[in-house]
Order: sequence, then C-alpha cells, then structure tokens
Amino acid sequence: MSLLSVRDLTVSFPTSDGVVRAVRGLSFDVEAGQTLGIVGETGSGKSVSALSLLGLNPGADISGSAVFEGTELLALRQDKLRRVRGAEIAMIFQDPLSSLHPYYRVGWQICEAIRTHRRTSREEAMRQAVELLRMVSIPQPERRVHAFPHELSGGMRQRAMIAMALALRPKLLIADEPTTALDATVQAQLMELLGGMQRELGMAMIVITHDLGLVATVADSVLVMYAGRGAERADYRAIFRSPHHPYTRGLLASIPGAAGSGGRLVPIVGQPPSLIRIPSGCAFHPRCPFAMDVCVRDQPPFVPVRGGEGHLSACWLPPDAVGVDAAADAARQRFVEGRRGPAIARLRAAISGARAGGGVAHG
Ligand code: SF4
Repeated sequence: MSLLSVRDLTVSFPTSDGVVRAVRGLSFDVEAGQTLGIVGETGSGKSVSALSLLGLNPGADISGSAVFEGTELLALRQDKLRRVRGAEIAMIFQDPLSSLHPYYRVGWQICEAIRTHRRTSREEAMRQAVELLRMVSIPQPERRVHAFPHELSGGMRQRAMIAMALALRPKLLIADEPTTALDATVQAQLMELLGGMQRELGMAMIVITHDLGLVATVADSVLVMYAGRGAERADYRAIFRSPHHPYTRGLLASIPGAAGSGGRLVPIVGQPPSLIRIPSGCAFHPRCPFAMDVCVRDQPPFVPVRGGEGHLSACWLPPDAVGVDAAADAARQRFVEGRRGPAIARLRAAISGARAGGGVAHG
C-alpha cells in the first residue's frame, strides 16, 4: 500500500469572476521513502493540491480522496489534521519568511514545533534544535539557534526551515518550490541536503517545482501537471528520455542544454490558461504544436503509454509517440497530418486574429 494515495482530487474556489477550477480530478501515489516531483507552470494546481491535503485551503470546495497511512485526510476534522501536520506530514515553502515568524528566534520556533507535538522539556527541545541546525549544515548552530530570521542569509533561513520541518521526523515532507528564491549554487546545495536528509530519515518527499531540471536531481518519479490535471506521470528516467505528452516535451526543450533541444532554448509558446475559462478538450491545445481536431473537442484520458512501466499520459497522440529527438517529433507530426480539420483551422484563425489585434495569442 502506498504511503499516500490521492484519487480524483478536485479543488475549486468560488470567486466573483467565476469558479476557479484549480485542480481537476488529480490522482497520484507516493511510496514510503520515495520522492515524487510535481512539475508545472505557475497556476497548474501543484501547490493547491498539496495545501488541500493538509487542510490549508480555507474556502475551497474539495472532493476526492487522499489516504495517508490508511487515514482519509480529506475527512479529518481540523484538530486531528493539526496533529498530522508537522508530526506526520511536514511542509516547507518557497519563502522561509512566510513560515518563520520574524518576531521569534529561530531556536525558539523549532522548540515550539517540537513541544506542540511532543512532551519535551524546553532544555531538551533546545538541545534538539541545535542538533537539527547542525544536521542541516548551519555553521555555529549553538550561536545561530539564538538568531532572529532576519539575521540569517536566504540560504540559511531555508536550512532553518528545513530543520524545523524535520524536527518531528515526518514520514512525508512536502517541499513547495523549496529553492526558487535562491541562487543556483545554494539551490544545488539545498537539494543535495534534502536528498541526504531523506535517505537518512527514510522519509518520502513531494517536491513541487516549475523546474523540470531540478527534479532530475532528487525525484524517483515525476508528475507533470497542466491546468489542474495530470498531463504525464512516469519514472524520472522515462520523463527525461521518452516523454509522451507534448507539454512535457516542451518543458524539456526549455531546459538549457537538455536532450532534444539541439542546444537551443525552445520556450513553450503562449500562456497557461485562466482556470476560470479552461479551453475545451485538452486544455493544452491552444499551445500544442501537435494539436488535432479531437484535441479541441474531447478531453484525453490518463492512459498507459510505451515509455515504460507505470508511464501514463493524457494525450491523443498514439501510445508509442515517445521521445525527445527530431525523429520522434517527425513521427508525431506525421500522425497529426490528416487529423487537422475545421477545428484547427478555426483555432489558427482565432490566434492570428488575436495577434493582429494585439491580444494574447495562444500558439
Ligand atoms: Fe497536444 Fe492533443 Fe496531446 Fe493535447 S491531446 S497535448 S493538444 S496532441
């Protein structure tokens, strides 16, 4: 049995402009001791999904199922959920200043995290706080434990937040864009640290990021999200070597030096859609270079493809249309020829009309 099993998770927010459909029927599993990378652009529903599991989306309409060690998280009362948060499932965020209170010393905050869930004297909790800061490689932890968050560098604050998240040795750590605000060297150090901590503590991790390159360093498997849905899911090797979904293909081509990019950065054209007005059929169709008439009309199911065991993709291209090289793209192109009719003609006309009028173009 998986440590966490999420099925058909749906999250929406009623707003004055309409209903924001942030997550639409998402399913995934996290195995004990493994790392799942959840990747997608801003607004793809990655963070909302994670926050919903922990009851941190007030005002949202949530349905589906999220079973953690046999317990249905979505049915738990807030007081029970609070016991799970921190002790069983911990979360770290992009901005440590939003998690670390600026008014309290770092050590005090780690002590409180420990003492909220465990009967521990203040002295013992402080001793543990120093050890935790040492474990995340903060120099002079006996001194830094008395520092205020603003007295630490960005990288050190992030390490302190990791220490706080690990204080209760959770079984699952959710890291939401854990290194986005940091420079590349510190980013690499922190990802290495997280990977090391994971192995040492035997915990599972969900790493949420917009950076597919980043998950390559830590993830066992990858879930690519687009417009609130799973686009592709596979073992990390299959995602990098034989992606099926054109969105995954596009994310890979936009990584500097990635295979199949021909040494050039090839950005995905257009913008992610509004989650209030999601395009019909496959939500990626306005941006997809392989869009066919069926894509505009019908939403593709999440089905197995040829990239390897457990490789699933939500795309109308044939199951063997995998790969990153020019030959794979040519095969995709051959398949779509003859499957483009009036729907694609209308789409192209709308796009050139929007361009001519200075509007936002998709595609
Ligand atoms: Fe592109 Fe169609 Fe696949 Fe969507 S279903 S990713 S539009 S080819």
